[in-house]
Amino acid sequence: MEELKPTTHQAMARFRASLLRRASAVAWVVLIIISAQAVRQEVFGQRGFWIPMAGLSVLLVVSTAARWDRLMATRAAPWIAAAWLMGLIVGITTLAVIPELTATAQPILFGIAAVSGLLLTWWAHALVTVFIGVAIAFVAVTIGAVTTDAIEQVLAPVLTVAVVAAATALVGVEFEREAVRSNEREGQIDQQRLDFERLYAVSATLARAESLAEIVPHLIGTICKYLDAQVGVVLLYDPDRHRLELMSPIWVNGYPLESDPITLDVAAAGIVTQTYRAGKPFYVREVDQDSDNHILLKELGLKQALVAPLKVESLRVGVIIVGDPYVGNFSEDQLEQLGSLAAPAGLVLSQIGRYEAQADMTRRLEEVAQMKSDFVSTVSHELRTPLTSIIGSLDTVNRPELQPTQPTAQHLLSTARRQAGRLQRLIDDLLVVSRIDRGAIPVHLEAISLRQAFDEVNRVVSIEPTFVVDPEGLAVEADRDHLSRILINLVENAAKYAVGSSVELFAWERGSKALIVVVDHGPGIPDHERDRVFERFTQVDQSDTRSKGGTGLGLSIVKSLTEVMRGVVRVEETEGGGATFVVELPLAPALQSVD
Ligand code: ADP
Repeated sequence: MEELKPTTHQAMARFRASLLRRASAVAWVVLIIISAQAVRQEVFGQRGFWIPMAGLSVLLVVSTAARWDRLMATRAAPWIAAAWLMGLIVGITTLAVIPELTATAQPILFGIAAVSGLLLTWWAHALVTVFIGVAIAFVAVTIGAVTTDAIEQVLAPVLTVAVVAAATALVGVEFEREAVRSNEREGQIDQQRLDFERLYAVSATLARAESLAEIVPHLIGTICKYLDAQVGVVLLYDPDRHRLELMSPIWVNGYPLESDPITLDVAAAGIVTQTYRAGKPFYVREVDQDSDNHILLKELGLKQALVAPLKVESLRVGVIIVGDPYVGNFSEDQLEQLGSLAAPAGLVLSQIGRYEAQADMTRRLEEVAQMKSDFVSTVSHELRTPLTSIIGSLDTVNRPELQPTQPTAQHLLSTARRQAGRLQRLIDDLLVVSRIDRGAIPVHLEAISLRQAFDEVNRVVSIEPTFVVDPEGLAVEADRDHLSRILINLVENAAKYAVGSSVELFAWERGSKALIVVVDHGPGIPDHERDRVFERFTQVDQSDTRSKGGTGLGLSIVKSLTEVMRGVVRVEETEGGGATFVVELPLAPALQSVD
């Protein structure tokens, strides 16, 4: 576990080390000031001056180079700090007994008393304070000041030291308390940060997964790692069966392990189902106690466990169990952590579950669509051969030398031939549609003269449209069969739905495209139906269409074929009424270069 909690001890050690570093720096300045005073007072050469001065310099060199952070973190820290202060006090006192330096050196002893209050534990501070008191008294006695007014000369400074020491001790105690408080706060913030990091890590693991099988081991593995648990299990609620279903694999000792299917009736007794029903986490301290309630936990070989619901708001999606095969590892804190980790887990698991169900449904629909397309294709193929032979036979019987003489027989024969032709067109359309669906429509692009294409259409269709191609040699890059099917479809539709109206075909050039336009002056297509007519099985007026023998497939085929040739098709209203179909196809490169 990556606990980072700084202790109060560490915080105080850091503070004391920094104070000692600063105090050493200040002590250097003090030494310089005293040296300057010694030069002024001409005592610089005296042994009584330079011996303590040399001692103090050595002490400060050592303390400047010392690794206070480390020293203050040891158990001997108060002794080391006290010894440093004592050394300082001895040095300064020795200098203060030189009468010319007393006034400069003595106040420094007060400063040391103040620093000691912040630096030392209360007993060490008391010791240092007494030591300073004695030093001050010693200075006063040595320089012979204690003659008439002892109270003023000795007791006053000693009392001042006591007051300064007491005041700084109070500040030190308060500071220590504040350090403890801020340390606690820091600990809490650290814990929260850790919780958030874990929450984020769990959410990130979950967000990457696409299936429950992929996510479950990751999820329980991550949670077990954070809670220092050996076993982790997820049970998800199956709304169809109203049961909790154990997700395989389960997590055991750092590895996913496939498990046998286990399901629990949510209404049944037991801590797991109870957690699901109650929607709040439980800490099972001893699985062996009340073992009737802990059957699943026992089966998993657990001696203690944390059980939490996986839920999204009020929607419960399952239960998560983490546990150990021995007693006495978990805490209430961990139960709380499991509760907070279970929230995002529940959210993502439910979403992935829904996503999987949808993906499953889409897959099944695709399979059905494929089956349908295969069926249509097979049936159409099977029908085509007998139908071709029926049409062949009917055409043969219809020849003048074989034609029946009776008018009724002739009428029946021509009806049969017409209906057979209609069936053939339908089968053809169905075959094209199923090829389009399978993406198996062949496309052989070549330059096709539109004049020629119109001529061919004219030969096949049941009416005689007029046509204009401008410029005369206009050509498109298209598949010959597809283009002709498109044109025949549009012209036959015009013949069928605009009965009696003239039909015109135009071909113009526009930019890098050719516009092929089929115009009729019939009833036209209402505004709101114009996009829909290109969808399969769309018939604007069903009764009318049925009587005209439509299937609703023609325009959808026109659209698909136009698109496979990199073109677009739309329908507009003819001026004065009627339908105008516009097909845009790429110009043939040869023609583009001629222009
Ligand atoms: P169908 O086999 O029914 O003709 P289409 O896909 O070719 O199928 O046409 C779809 C519908 O669009 C038709 O049922 C018809 O109502 C309408 N439609 C197509 N062409 C025309 C047209 N030239 N004039 C009026 N309505 C048309």
